[in-house]
Amino acid sequence: MDSVRVRFAPSPTGSLHVGGARTALYNWLFARRHSGTFILRIEDTDVERSRKELTSQILEAMTWLGLSWDEGPYFQSERYAHYQEAANRLIDEGKAYRAFETPEELEAEKKRAEAEGKAFRYSGACRALSREESDRRAAAGEKFVIRLLMPEETIVVNDVVQGRAEFSPDVLDDFVLVRSDGHPLYHFSVCVDDAAMGITHVIRGVDHLPNTPKHVALFRALGVKPPVFAHLGMILGTDGKKLSKRHGAAGVEEFREMGFLPQALVNFLALLGWSPGEDRERMTTEEMISLFSLERIGPSPSRFDHEKLAWMNGQSLQETPEPELLALLKAPELSALPEETLHAAIGLHRPRTKTLVELRKALSIYLEDPAEFDPAGMKKFARREDAAHLRTLAARLSSIEPFTHTGMEEAARALAEETGLKLGALAQPARLALTGSLASPPLFEMIEVLGKETALRRMLSFAGRIEANPHPH
Ligand code: GLU
Repeated sequence: MDSVRVRFAPSPTGSLHVGGARTALYNWLFARRHSGTFILRIEDTDVERSRKELTSQILEAMTWLGLSWDEGPYFQSERYAHYQEAANRLIDEGKAYRAFETPEELEAEKKRAEAEGKAFRYSGACRALSREESDRRAAAGEKFVIRLLMPEETIVVNDVVQGRAEFSPDVLDDFVLVRSDGHPLYHFSVCVDDAAMGITHVIRGVDHLPNTPKHVALFRALGVKPPVFAHLGMILGTDGKKLSKRHGAAGVEEFREMGFLPQALVNFLALLGWSPGEDRERMTTEEMISLFSLERIGPSPSRFDHEKLAWMNGQSLQETPEPELLALLKAPELSALPEETLHAAIGLHRPRTKTLVELRKALSIYLEDPAEFDPAGMKKFARREDAAHLRTLAARLSSIEPFTHTGMEEAARALAEETGLKLGALAQPARLALTGSLASPPLFEMIEVLGKETALRRMLSFAGRIEANPHPH
């Protein structure tokens, strides 16, 4: 194989969506697998919809995912001279021509086709103009577009992923390359750039498959061998509909903010269409690179399962070395905790969390007394007798030495037996007192990490709070 050159070519009209991220990832994996070059090209010729800050966001999201590019970013908005030069060359070679129909004339042609129940195809009338006449009219200031002279032949696309597709000449007309204001159109700038950048493989979403015959014709006109095409299947939600906001987060930034780890997201995205074989799921980046091949990408749509992603993220979270984890948590306030406490707290909570955000929240209870209490919990466990139970439990715990969770558990069981209370009646108000919520990991393990003093202080102060304003029965 020639040395591989691939590109990711986002249009900065939105932030990086998981679909785009998967396209970028597949290009990146393919480049790395073949020691090739991964090029980043920003397709910002749509001046109305492209925004600078979205470009920075896309670059940032790619950097966060670890998808480093070797060339670029190139900006199409800075490459107009190339498109102009290519258009002139095609005209000189007789592969493209100026078309002088006015918008009104084209509109009338369209209407006529509609009335006859046919799809509109440009008639090709201006093909007949001589070069001299074309030059003369252009020089006289007449407005024109530049159209590709489409060969009258079936175009076959042998897509590595989607298979063979044939496009008959009657669906393809002499499409516009350059508008009358000199603005290059999408198909043209893409192909001029792919040709200029020596792109060997075009890996992109299946929504671009219908554009591909035009691109093939353009590559031929430009005098280059068309690249290998690999069109990736759609990404759907678990309900089988096109993935959208309705299904939950869909932007890379959103997942980052929700506390996902880049390696988990990358691993998950890699499996949306590609199967590495042997039922492999969790892989390191190195493993993905060494196993990746276009031949193992399936043509069907794949489903974006948020639950599976959360599971994968939870797995990655467990494997992250503690110092790295602390850096990722971005919670400098945690350094106020004694090292041992922090270590024990991570040991207790990490296995029960799936994201950095969840873990950060769980660890926050070791820093400060809860400021808010879950209203549903208050309704159930902030009655006068709960205050009494809290005081009884606190008194019993105060005498435990050494202050271990097994010791506490034994004492609490004995207390439940003596008083005829259920263990939950003792434990639930304590959970609320200590964390502000009823969801917490094993209570006594948490109390052990919190330490006797903090735990008893929170329990007694919460008891006082209930006594001052008990929830009615
Ligand atoms: N700029 C196009 C897009 O964002 C990609 C074009 C291509 O990959 O050929 O959909």
